[in-house]
Amino acid sequence: MQKISAIRGMNDMLPSQSAAWLHLERALSDLTRAYGYEAIRTPIVESTALFQRGIGEVTDIVEKEMYSFEDRLNGEQLTLRPEGTAAIVRAVIEHNLIYEGPKRLWYTGPMFRHERPQRGRYRQFHQFGIEALGFAGPDIDAEIILMGQRLWDELGLKGVRLEINSLGQADERAAHRSALVSYFTQYQSQLDEDSRRRLQSNPLRILDSKNPAMQSLIEGAPKLLEFLGKESLQHFETLQSLLKANNIPFKINPRLVRGLDYYNLSVFEWITDALGAQGTIAGGGRYDPLIERMGGKPAPACGWAMGMERVIELMGISESLPETEPVCDVYVLHQGGETLTQALIAAESLRSAGVDVILHCPPDGQSSSFKSQMKKADASGAQLALIIGPDELARQEGQLKDLRGTGEQRAIPLAGLLSAVIDALVDR
Ligand code: ATP
Ligand code: MG
Repeated sequence: MQKISAIRGMNDMLPSQSAAWLHLERALSDLTRAYGYEAIRTPIVESTALFQRGIGEVTDIVEKEMYSFEDRLNGEQLTLRPEGTAAIVRAVIEHNLIYEGPKRLWYTGPMFRHERPQRGRYRQFHQFGIEALGFAGPDIDAEIILMGQRLWDELGLKGVRLEINSLGQADERAAHRSALVSYFTQYQSQLDEDSRRRLQSNPLRILDSKNPAMQSLIEGAPKLLEFLGKESLQHFETLQSLLKANNIPFKINPRLVRGLDYYNLSVFEWITDALGAQGTIAGGGRYDPLIERMGGKPAPACGWAMGMERVIELMGISESLPETEPVCDVYVLHQGGETLTQALIAAESLRSAGVDVILHCPPDGQSSSFKSQMKKADASGAQLALIIGPDELARQEGQLKDLRGTGEQRAIPLAGLLSAVIDALVDR
């Protein structure tokens, strides 16, 4: 029969990789608790209109990367979420979450973008992100950047650098925009197709182009920072001084504009050279206009999102992946029949006390020799093997074998099993 494979660009996360994911997830849970961020989970499928409005029509995501389809039953236009912010803002508005004051939120989960699969770029990938909603000052911009830095340190990532920029406010961008339009119009013949289209719809996005042929032209374009007014500059300068006061190194990159439409003031990215072309592990910024644009009462907000696959790959390169943990403490061997019944009871009583146990289950459903069971016990990484054969059972005993240290094996009464196991585990 022909095999069915996974969809291109959508990966299985195999047991051998799960220790790394668990490690990352634990670090994220510690991080969000340390800063008082609360979890939020939104559906994977949303109305297509949510992303068109929330991300912006003239973006890579909305123009060409969304998995959109029509609901066969009612004709609704739906999309697999390509990112987290739009849906969180929707939920915040729908449930009035910032009615009583600002909120610090975090989320994690799979995202979907129809991109060309390659290293660090998948069609289903996972993001962790934070959103701080209802805060206007640069203090919160600094806080969320500090969180990122703490996370990279905690995970032992090497070679991550921070780039920041300010996108100012809408009127400042408008002045910059007309300067950009005159500049790029002057060089229209050198523009690629995407940029020519964006020259009309969203000239700022030309600066985001990844086309190498466009880079020198972009280099010479008018810089937004030169168009910022007093308040925007003040916001940006306070952010910088808070980062400096906390010894966070950063570089100002005037060309950093980010792919999404809704950003204003601070934007930033964490980048590494260790991952090849897909070097951005996380990025974010302030998006004060978004909540109003999504139909809510105007409120400022900022946040960032990180690509978990890229971070895990960088953990590997930084040699900071956790060691694989053994899958259990005790492996229980038996000979079927009454010994199986007793082994199962013993395993359950140990589990009730918090001991991790694997019960030997022969693949063919028949009983197998103790020798082959012992090989399995060894491979499991367990500290102890508990052996219950017919002779032991007759005496209401088991044999407890130390698999890692001395290799000592001794008979113990089944009535005293738990304390014997705990003593042996503590001894190690
Ligand atoms: P890129 O410039 O690499 O396309 P982006 O600007 O589209 O990134 P964001 O929308 O800011 O990315 O998403 C935040 C993070 O999610 C990125 O910095 C990256 O680490 C990760 N990410 C984005 N797209 C993918 C993808 N297709 N596969 C894996 N990770 C991704
Ligand atoms: Mg992208």
